Amino acid sequence: MFDILIKKGMVFDGTGAPPVKADIGIKGDLIIAVGDLDDSNAVDVINASGLSVAPGFIDAHTHDDASLIIRPDMEAKLSQGVTTVICGNCGISGAPYNLTCEPSGLLRLVFKSEDFVAKDFKSYMAKVEEAKPSVNSAFFTGHTTLRMNAMGKNLNRAATKKEIDVMKEELELALCQGSIGLSTGLFYEPANAAPTAEIVELAKVLESYGGIYATHMRDEADFVVESVEEAIKIGSEAKVPIIISHHKCQGQHNHGKSIVTLEAMAKARKTQSIAVDIYPYAASSTVLNEVSVLRAEKTIVTWSDPYPEVSGRDLKSIAAEFGVSKLDAMKKLLPGGAIYFMMDEGDIERIMTSNNAMIGSDGLPEDSHPHPRLWGTFPRVLGHYARDRQVMPMHDAVNRMTGLSAKNFHLAGRGVLKPGFFADVTIFNHDTIIDLATFERPKQKSLGIEQVIVNGKTAWIGGKCVGAGQGRVLKRRVGEK
Ligand SMILES: [Zn+2]
Repeated sequence: MFDILIKKGMVFDGTGAPPVKADIGIKGDLIIAVGDLDDSNAVDVINASGLSVAPGFIDAHTHDDASLIIRPDMEAKLSQGVTTVICGNCGISGAPYNLTCEPSGLLRLVFKSEDFVAKDFKSYMAKVEEAKPSVNSAFFTGHTTLRMNAMGKNLNRAATKKEIDVMKEELELALCQGSIGLSTGLFYEPANAAPTAEIVELAKVLESYGGIYATHMRDEADFVVESVEEAIKIGSEAKVPIIISHHKCQGQHNHGKSIVTLEAMAKARKTQSIAVDIYPYAASSTVLNEVSVLRAEKTIVTWSDPYPEVSGRDLKSIAAEFGVSKLDAMKKLLPGGAIYFMMDEGDIERIMTSNNAMIGSDGLPEDSHPHPRLWGTFPRVLGHYARDRQVMPMHDAVNRMTGLSAKNFHLAGRGVLKPGFFADVTIFNHDTIIDLATFERPKQKSLGIEQVIVNGKTAWIGGKCVGAGQGRVLKRRVGEK
């Protein structure tokens, strides 16, 4: 007798193996049996005939840190079949938050107020657990946050030996309290003033804890190749696995450079562990900044504090209305955010199907007019890239959002449909699954996600959140290497 029995679905087990028709038996929060369970019964029998059954999707790159607390039903994620979100990316984490300066623009964007941060990960994770989100979460410790704790107001420089020691101590405590590793956002102020050696020193702390290093690299445009080399060097010198976040090549004259970056990674993989994540769109999104405005073919403003009414509009038309240049218009709109069109489909498909590439949305959930990746990433990869464009088989695409991600982030018991694993399950319709979120109307639920189970309980069905706060904080396990 199971609690839930999912019958006659095409089962993608998350390992990258082709699907097989099978039943899945769930008891409590665990998968108990997979196979022909025709003679079994359950409290809740789900007929999945004609549907696909996969492990719940793991969003490899998010900024959902505060959203887990602000909107714990996590509709943007559950509606895509996502059951676990990786947070604390791009150098920005809500703990340990002991700032000795004003918070940076990106920190402010992710964490709207001091209600959603905490002095250490123990109290931060307790806050998340108290909010009872419906999806699981795991957390990186942000290098930018550590810098703003340790370095006072003058951040436009390398950290001193003493300051690095303070950051190391905070990072070590964070790892002991369950953070999964260190993230950097070397593109952004104030992290861009950090030399490679500063990051290597910090990353060395990770080794004995089995921590991971994830990086929003120093440059994703003219110096993208050099930036990949820097990440590889950091991983190699600190002896830690690296994850290159939202890998892309920005700017028309850099299109195609993914051939070179992926080759460099392949070569380095002979002696070290390297993964990447990617979102399936040719436009990026972050705070308004001069470099990106100059580089993009088109810029859509997503939010602006002084001019909230321009949200969703093209910067070019705003500039015309103001009667100034695009750059001057941008300066008037600060602080603000934008979507930048500057990537190439060839690079996207090449990176997405490359060795050890995972799917991550990088959505900014508190943005008033977010990039559509926040609501559409996973159904878009499955429906548009795997089924319609056939850039990879469906079971390969599923692997890149389940088993592969669980392996790279050391999420024990997740990402695979096998007895003994946690019952995070997404049931989807192979024929109809597709994203509906667009750049014009980004807050749209996708089609084809039929039912989502998190830790053995249904969290999404009939196009609605029905979760009872069953998501868990996934802590780096003590002693785990
Ligand atoms: Zn980033």
